[in-house]
Amino acid sequence: MIKIENLQKSFGDLQVLKDMNVEVRAQEVVCVIGPSGSGKSTFLRCINCLEEPTGGSIVIEGMDITDPKNNVNKMRQKLGMVFQQFNLFPHMTVLENITIAPKRLRGKAKLEADQLGKDLLNKVGLADKADVYPDNLSGGQKQRAAIARALAMEPAIMLFDEPTSALDPEMVGGVLAVMKNLAKEGMTMVIVTHEMGFAREVADRVIFMDGGYIVEEGDPEDLFGNPKHERTKTFLSKVL
Ligand code: ADP
Ligand code: MG
Repeated sequence: MIKIENLQKSFGDLQVLKDMNVEVRAQEVVCVIGPSGSGKSTFLRCINCLEEPTGGSIVIEGMDITDPKNNVNKMRQKLGMVFQQFNLFPHMTVLENITIAPKRLRGKAKLEADQLGKDLLNKVGLADKADVYPDNLSGGQKQRAAIARALAMEPAIMLFDEPTSALDPEMVGGVLAVMKNLAKEGMTMVIVTHEMGFAREVADRVIFMDGGYIVEEGDPEDLFGNPKHERTKTFLSKVL
């Protein structure tokens, strides 16, 4: 579903991603862990065309997104992205937040978009919040609304960048539960997270990044239970 080869990204003289090679299969859940500043967000932003790679290729469902001939907006529609800061539109109700993209970009009729939006709110446990404004939601509810909004474009792949890092501890579980359900339904997901328990339980594969490289990757039991590289061991000893 995603094939990334020799991906590099520099900002001026600063090389943030150095030769990343990653494949993600359909329905796979890949968690990316690593210290702050290791390039995790930049990696996701390259996949979502929010940053332009300085080298290498990213092929999503057979389309090379680094090829300027391809339409970036079309490719972005394959991908749903959820950020640490929820980025909901404050002047729109929760339902309007979710239905705006399907209406504007997909040309869905209001009735159909509203039905889809309500189904999605139901799925993320916010059925009673359709007409509420984001300011009146808790952090966890905002993030679940943001997930519903991303799902409304019916993406093939969901990308998450530390979706629970900005939340009060008691809000984290509800968001992770929604993500766990998506995984169960077979959604292909790439998740940058500090929730090691979640990664261990839900990921099919865990990638440990440091300094712009993939230092180590493997199935969660191996990577958490028996890390091979010194840097992985050091990182895990700090976070587990
Ligand atoms: P992580 O998500 O793992 O914490 P990031 O991908 O956010 O890491 O950042 C990796 C490095 O790239 C950091 O040193 C950061 O300062 C730098 N960086 C990220 N975005 C930019 C940018 N737009 N311009 C310059 N440097 C950036
Ligand atoms: Mg980051």
